[in-house]
Amino acid sequence: MSLTSVAGVNIIGAGLAGSLLAILLGRRGFKVTVYERRPDPRVANANGGRSINLALAARGIRGLDLAGVLDRVMPLATVMRGRMVHEHDGAAALQMYGVRPEEVIYSVSRADLNRTLIEAAAALPNVTFSFGQLCLGLAHEKSVLEMRDEATGRIYHTATQPGIATDGAGSEVRDSLMAREVAAVREESLEHDYKELTIPARDGKHVLEPNALHIWPRGGFMLIALPNLDGTFTATLFLARHGTNSFDELTSPGAVDGFFSREFPSAKALMPDLLREFFEHPQGSLGTVYTHGWHLGGDVLLLGDAAHAIVPFHGQGMNCAFEDCAELVRLMDRHQTWPGLFEAFEAERRPNTDAIAKMALENYVEMRETVLDDEYRRRKKAAEELEKKNPDFVPRYSMVMFHPEIPYREALLRSQAGAGPPVS
Ligand SMILES: Cc1cc2nc3c(=O)[nH]c(=O)nc-3n(C[C@H](O)[C@H](O)[C@H](O)COP(=O)(O)OP(=O)(O)OC[C@H]3O[C@@H](n4cnc5c(N)ncnc54)[C@H](O)[C@@H]3O)c2cc1C
Repeated sequence: MSLTSVAGVNIIGAGLAGSLLAILLGRRGFKVTVYERRPDPRVANANGGRSINLALAARGIRGLDLAGVLDRVMPLATVMRGRMVHEHDGAAALQMYGVRPEEVIYSVSRADLNRTLIEAAAALPNVTFSFGQLCLGLAHEKSVLEMRDEATGRIYHTATQPGIATDGAGSEVRDSLMAREVAAVREESLEHDYKELTIPARDGKHVLEPNALHIWPRGGFMLIALPNLDGTFTATLFLARHGTNSFDELTSPGAVDGFFSREFPSAKALMPDLLREFFEHPQGSLGTVYTHGWHLGGDVLLLGDAAHAIVPFHGQGMNCAFEDCAELVRLMDRHQTWPGLFEAFEAERRPNTDAIAKMALENYVEMRETVLDDEYRRRKKAAEELEKKNPDFVPRYSMVMFHPEIPYREALLRSQAGAGPPVS
């Protein structure tokens, strides 16, 4: 089955990876159909009014550029030049992310970004979206997807064509590859959950430095906040599920109030809706998904979180998923058949996604704990000086965030070999 002989390509999931991939494949001339279980975000508000944002860095930017949508996305983004570390006593200090002015990351609204990508894909004459369609996985027949129309409950089948599954961390398609023993999957859940909260604007303006990612590191847990364009910040509490200082303890308004007063007094003063939001917003779980066997011949491929969900502490899940999309398209120039393409994609990407999974876990300890350490700060300063004098020396954080030409695996290996310690 050659790449060009197919009638079309199905994408399952119109999230971040699926919508970017639809643009890339559409621009290459494929007839693309995207099935998404949610309603169309161009007409429905997917977040119930909440603003959830993501850190966008060089790898993601490269994917957006390849799809020709960077000029539409960058107006949605707020630059973050460094992390502002807020200590217990209220003192705050900015640690710059890079040593060059262009070494920055961006905060972007997930909903706005997704909508923009869907709009750009839908504008292509050969890309079609089908919303409200839940994929139940592969049907008994080898090359058929089982679908359910969410409005009517009707179950129907559609040919994979091939199908590329970008249905996220809880992928149904991955489950069905596992059931057929095509994929071996290991899911490692983190013992810490998260909850998103809001730091509102005052007179339409940010109440904290807008061009920074704010962190209140407290050793075993942390609060972070990323800026939004409307002057608000989306704050996220990362905290253990059980034990001392855990979500289990925060079951009453008094307990939440006491915890925030004790641990995050400076942030709490900026969160007038804290108690209402704490009990209304969901408590999310986090984890890493390791999959071996991302494809079924040339019929189906897993991509993005569906293949390799990671914890969010390096701000790389979406960036990595966008890099997946760019890499798949790059490999199309070298492989003429779908099975060959899918096999090459997994061989190329899995060592890299395993590496970022490891670095993302390590970065949690760094963000919530190590950044407070004087020795860490001295090492970071020394690494910055070294990098300014010797351009060949690149700290690990910079390799991951600012150097998409360095694969994740190489960044990990180089930092383990000492050439660029995990200083961020
Ligand atoms: C708290 C948190 C913070 C994060 N912060 C960052 C960050 O700062 N930077 C970063 O790069 N990454 C971040 N990430 C990771 C990022 O959100 C994911 O890596 C990214 O969304 C992956 O894109 P995806 O398209 O693979 O999956 P998703 O964006 O999850 O999209 C999956 C899509 O598939 C649809 N779908 C699911 N199942 C089905 C089905 N059965 N049938 C049809 N459709 C289906 C879903 O509705 C969704 O639209 C964060 C994640 C979390 C949880």
